[in-house]
Amino acid sequence: FNVPEPKNEPVFDYAPGSPEKAKLKEALKEARSQQVDIPMYIGGEQVKTGKKIPLSPPHDHQHLLGHFHEGDKGHVEQAINAALGAKEAWETMEWEQRAAIFLKAADLIAGPYRYKINAATMLGQSKNAYQAEIDSACEIVDFLRFNVKYMTDIYSQQPPISGKGVWNRLEQRPLEGFIFALTPFNFTAIAGNLPTAPAMMGNTVVWKPAYTQIYAANVLMEVFRDAGVPDGVINLVYVDGPAAGEVIFDHPDFAGIHFTGSTAVFQTIWKTIGNNITKYKSYPRIVGETGGKDFVVAHKSARAKELATGLVRGAFEFQGQKCSAASRAYVPSNLWEDVKKYIQEDLSTMKMGGVEDFTNFVNAVIDEKSFDKIASFIDKAKEEGLEIISGGNYDKSKGYFVEPTVIVTKDPMYKTMCEEIFGPVLTIYVYQADHFEETLELVDQTSPYALTGAIFSQDRYAAEFATKKLRNAAGNFYINDKPTGAVVGQQPFGGARKSGTNDKAGAMINLLRWVSPRTIKETF
Ligand code: GLU
Repeated sequence: FNVPEPKNEPVFDYAPGSPEKAKLKEALKEARSQQVDIPMYIGGEQVKTGKKIPLSPPHDHQHLLGHFHEGDKGHVEQAINAALGAKEAWETMEWEQRAAIFLKAADLIAGPYRYKINAATMLGQSKNAYQAEIDSACEIVDFLRFNVKYMTDIYSQQPPISGKGVWNRLEQRPLEGFIFALTPFNFTAIAGNLPTAPAMMGNTVVWKPAYTQIYAANVLMEVFRDAGVPDGVINLVYVDGPAAGEVIFDHPDFAGIHFTGSTAVFQTIWKTIGNNITKYKSYPRIVGETGGKDFVVAHKSARAKELATGLVRGAFEFQGQKCSAASRAYVPSNLWEDVKKYIQEDLSTMKMGGVEDFTNFVNAVIDEKSFDKIASFIDKAKEEGLEIISGGNYDKSKGYFVEPTVIVTKDPMYKTMCEEIFGPVLTIYVYQADHFEETLELVDQTSPYALTGAIFSQDRYAAEFATKKLRNAAGNFYINDKPTGAVVGQQPFGGARKSGTNDKAGAMINLLRWVSPRTIKETF
């Protein structure tokens, strides 16, 4: 097989004066000057219901980006029928043809669509240029190219042994039925992966993005169509979650879900699927990445400056709205004064504002519900007299702005050490430098989640000890680096415990969830 060896898409830095920056600025200007009217896509048809929901940038309530057309249960039904109708032609197509379509989609995003998709992510999700570049453009390209490579590997695997007069084969069939892809607001790249991974393996998909992701999802759909994804293979609907769920999980042909979102929603879905299990033709595949309460723990041998940088970047890039964001830290007493000084210095230089000004590091959080939830955690910490060493203010008059906030607690079980906030709030517990082992116990037991985590240590033995002790506390574990920013092909991403099924996004094990092998024995 001659599929190109994938390489990670090079990241543009949008430095002042660069031609890339000028092009991205132009794309932003163009997007801002338009009012998009976003349809759903069902069986290749653009569906406009007339029930128009307005879209504004989270950092700028005054500006209208356009509308999307909201659908209802009937549209979900239509999308399922479209997916089932497109299935036979798609699954019997040569897999090389499917590979070609997704490789073309990758090239379109790396090339002509790069600025448009970044601009859409920046405006729709309030993500700065660099974060949009690594999240939307580059990571989608990487997901597509690496998954095509893994797909090749899967189709060329023939584990059974054949002998004289007998030929054993393994046929990697797609699942029987349709797949439901549910994508969150925080990464356009996740929307680039969740519908395409099952589709690549010959499945057809009903895709429902979070409403706060629709602005960028619409551009992605344009790419899929341009790349040649046939009508009905990926159907995009904008329907309220519970209503969509009622139709999807009640359908006998429901074959699997590819999910990223909250733990609570995932558990509700799982229960619903369990309750309906006798209705389905097959046992549905349940693949999900859910919440996190990601930790950074430092050993007394760590370098204070490196640790402070890791904390600030890990906790506050994209306003802390990554499932992987550092949100609880355990700093040894011997380093604390220096770490505190560096964090405060670092954060005092970080500007907050809209994404159009590329010097702003901090932008808005996604919506009012999220803003209010984050603000209430901060208020409570203030009321309860906790020390806040940076930030602590918020304002939703122009956009949903929350300052990067660092709380220090003397109680390692304080609620912001335990509960997921999904915003720019980091809580630090300073531990007695000699109590490293007890602190690792605490790290492991404080949270029900196990997505990402990091140890900072110059002592090799301590790093190794923490790696072993915390083996179940994170699906992505970092030594001397922040716990965010996993790169496709390099650090396959996902966690266990209450953080998900750990079927690693952008990895062969994920693609294997979307096939149901048939063993064929032929006797000559
Ligand atoms: N893969 C991302 C990272 O490593 C996080 C994705 C997510 O938030 O779900 O930072």
